[in-house]
Amino acid sequence: MNFDLTPEQDQLRDAVRALGRKYGHGYFVEKAKAGEHTTELWNEAGRLGYLGVNIPTEYGGGGGGITELAIVCEELAAAGCPLLLLVVSPAIAATVIAKHGTDEQRKRHLPGLADGSQKIVFAITEPEAGSNFHRLGTVARRDGDDWLLSGRKCYISGVDEANHVLVVARTEDASTGKLKPALFIVPTDAPGLTRSKLDMEILSPENQFLLYLDDVRLPADALLGESLDAGLPALFAGLNPERITVAAMGAGTGRYAIERASDYTATRKVWGGRSIGSHQGVAHPLAHAAVQVELTRLMINKAATLYDAGRDLEAGVAGNMAKYAAGEAAALAVDTAVQALGGAGMTTEYGVATLLGAVRAGRIAPVSREMILNFVAQHVLGQDKSY
Ligand SMILES: Cc1cc2nc3c(=O)[nH]c(=O)nc-3n(C[C@H](O)[C@H](O)[C@H](O)COP(=O)(O)OP(=O)(O)OC[C@H]3O[C@@H](n4cnc5c(N)ncnc54)[C@H](O)[C@@H]3O)c2cc1C
Repeated sequence: MNFDLTPEQDQLRDAVRALGRKYGHGYFVEKAKAGEHTTELWNEAGRLGYLGVNIPTEYGGGGGGITELAIVCEELAAAGCPLLLLVVSPAIAATVIAKHGTDEQRKRHLPGLADGSQKIVFAITEPEAGSNFHRLGTVARRDGDDWLLSGRKCYISGVDEANHVLVVARTEDASTGKLKPALFIVPTDAPGLTRSKLDMEILSPENQFLLYLDDVRLPADALLGESLDAGLPALFAGLNPERITVAAMGAGTGRYAIERASDYTATRKVWGGRSIGSHQGVAHPLAHAAVQVELTRLMINKAATLYDAGRDLEAGVAGNMAKYAAGEAAALAVDTAVQALGGAGMTTEYGVATLLGAVRAGRIAPVSREMILNFVAQHVLGQDKSY
């Protein structure tokens, strides 16, 4: 058992931390409040190779794994810049295309994903289907060599910043007549694809959208992979990287909040010469949150290590547990930090309440805590499925 990062991973962590701190939470908040994106940070991270750490070297990436991408997600978040699109574009889209795309799709999309010049977002959630992906209603029909895509998607992050959206749809299986999942790489300016921005109570430079697909006509090669059979494995290929990197973002956010709060409580004095951090009523909740965040980081490392070793089923269990733990730990850490800072905790200047919406959403998306508990109950504890 080895708990040490490799020297290269250590260097990556230090370098990403330095980049994150160069921009900082003030930059993140300023962009979010102005309704702008963190384009400068994204582009610089791309130029430095951090967005493509998990993409094969032949396509301009770093040739690493999800362990490396999780380091990038965690360190940027720990600097106060939790970038949700890292989870969507390099973690989900790049993994799915690298593992299940055609040669042509890899050549077309991976270099741009690696240097950050291209973003591909991910659309699975639908208003009616909710957590039940078996009820997906976005359907792809053949029209000659083309495909026609129709349906609705909701809460889709970053569509306004992306060149393409990876849409999860269903096609009719010729042999069984049943519907089965198929993924399509859809240009965001495709005729028939429209969007409306959702008003979310999350302070974030990244936006969520409703997507309407109205007979969106796509060429045959918009279908991800060589055939319709690629759909299901491709969909599953994106899930573990998504859970592990979103967990890393949560752990980084937790670290950020605890660091802000402990710096404050170690120096703030309101009772004579003693810092408020000397009161256990202030210090213990912070210490408790720090324990939860550190436990989460252990589970993230385990999940990423299993995933990079190709042990997908075990990585699935560990990744789900890491995501659950991170959602809870990040929410606890930010809430505890706000409390420890008192009134300052609610100001924009101290930069912790600004994360309340994001960490709350982290217990819902991209997979809710209840659906993870269902997964663990069924697959780890052997309970009957309840739904
Ligand atoms: C900030 C944000 C960004 C997002 N970005 C994306 C994106 O980029 N792409 C994308 O496709 N989606 C995205 N989503 C959607 C997200 O993945 C879903 O919101 C999430 O999966 C939950 O689905 P739902 O909202 O339809 O909730 P529902 O399925 O309606 O569930 C509502 C509540 O009921 C609970 N519940 C449902 N079924 C069960 C059950 N069987 N047992 C116990 N509890 C249950 C859920 O846990 C939840 O608490 C995003 C959401 C947010 C908030």
